[in-house]
Amino acid sequence: MKQSKTLYEQAVKVLPAGVNSPVRAFRSVGGTPIFMEKGEGTYLTDVDGNRYLDFCGSWGPLVLGHRHPEVQAAIMEVVQRGWTFGTPVKEEVALAQLVVDKLDAVDMMRFVNSGTEAVMSAIRLARGYTGRDRVLKFRGCYHGHVDYLLVDAGSGLATFGTASSAGVPAAFAELTAGAPLDDLAGLSKLLDQIGHEIAAVVIEGVPANNGLLIQDHAYVKGVRELCDKHGALLIFDEVLAGFRMPEVMAYRHYDVVPDLVCLGKVVGGGMPVGAYGGRAEIMHHIAPLGKVYQAGTLSGNPVAMAAGYATLSAYFATDVPAQIERLGSYLDKRLAPVTAALADMDYIRLGSLFWFYFKRAQAPRTAEAIAAESGEIYGKLHRFMLDRGIYLAPSSYEVGFLNTAMTETDLDLLVDGLKAAAEEGIVQ
Ligand SMILES: *Cc1c(COP(=O)(O)O)cnc(C)c1O
Repeated sequence: MKQSKTLYEQAVKVLPAGVNSPVRAFRSVGGTPIFMEKGEGTYLTDVDGNRYLDFCGSWGPLVLGHRHPEVQAAIMEVVQRGWTFGTPVKEEVALAQLVVDKLDAVDMMRFVNSGTEAVMSAIRLARGYTGRDRVLKFRGCYHGHVDYLLVDAGSGLATFGTASSAGVPAAFAELTAGAPLDDLAGLSKLLDQIGHEIAAVVIEGVPANNGLLIQDHAYVKGVRELCDKHGALLIFDEVLAGFRMPEVMAYRHYDVVPDLVCLGKVVGGGMPVGAYGGRAEIMHHIAPLGKVYQAGTLSGNPVAMAAGYATLSAYFATDVPAQIERLGSYLDKRLAPVTAALADMDYIRLGSLFWFYFKRAQAPRTAEAIAAESGEIYGKLHRFMLDRGIYLAPSSYEVGFLNTAMTETDLDLLVDGLKAAAEEGIVQ
């Protein structure tokens, strides 16, 4: 860990906590972050030459694993011709066409540079389209770090949210109303009160940034119906869930059609890309066709578009959802006897997302149902796994990601790691 330690000491002097995104700092699991140098398949190598089996996958984009040969070749091909032109390029048309062909909820789309930007822009579009100012979000859903979505909705229904970050003006937070997940009656009541002010209800396709909170089908369908009743657009934030589900998208998993879909992570194949799209009639409101302004110097960047296109082409050509289901069923089967012997820990999986949860008989469906001790238990498990060369996300609230570069042997390493952790009393 010598090089990582040295880099970290240098980093904290020039980068707050040594990082550019808070969770990377290892604050919730203890210890100091590891600096990675190389990725191959499903393995990472750090600057000291240690190898790790990677279940974090750069937080979601790498559904094909690190340095997939076709994605790498696509990136290299573009770079030889230049890497930004500030003009339309064929790569953005190709990726948009692929997404529009495959996603029935998306007639037209626009690319941006991050998931945050995708959600922010989709909400501006919804506001412009409906002529309403307020949005409704759910507790336990993350939509990036845009001001009016960094809002704590409290533990119940909240007509006005309060900022969950310093620097977010109260006036912005008040534009956001909040509701707990999994409570349709409560949502219905709240919307009866304020529905006429709400431009959009935004929900994570499958909430997966605060544990994996898999929702009931009837609930999600009910949310769709309430949006229709009150004239609010339904925005599915699929930045994380998109291309991670057995049915490709979460909106298909729940069999609802959202008005707007936000994409990120997988759609850029590991490059900084976000996107939002939906019905043409709504998308026509974006400038220069319509009056909703949204722009980006590097949006639709050809290198990023080529990486996304190569990733999604391989995704559909090799039926990644089916490949993941085979790996996932294997993991389920191998883990079941391990978790069955534990009183306080269990595991849940949907598509290529999985999550360990603690001290609960059933998988939580709301942020409130996650046990308070989770962070402490997970911190110990994380350290134990890391020492065995297994890289899990450094927070109990984060999910694990499967990718197609994994083999059953790799999954056995995770199972064996958990078994060993149980034997040592780290998990019980
Ligand atoms: C990651 C994520 C975002 C934010 O994307 P960034 O690229 O980090 O800005 C938004 N929504 C969801 C559901 C996410 O998982």
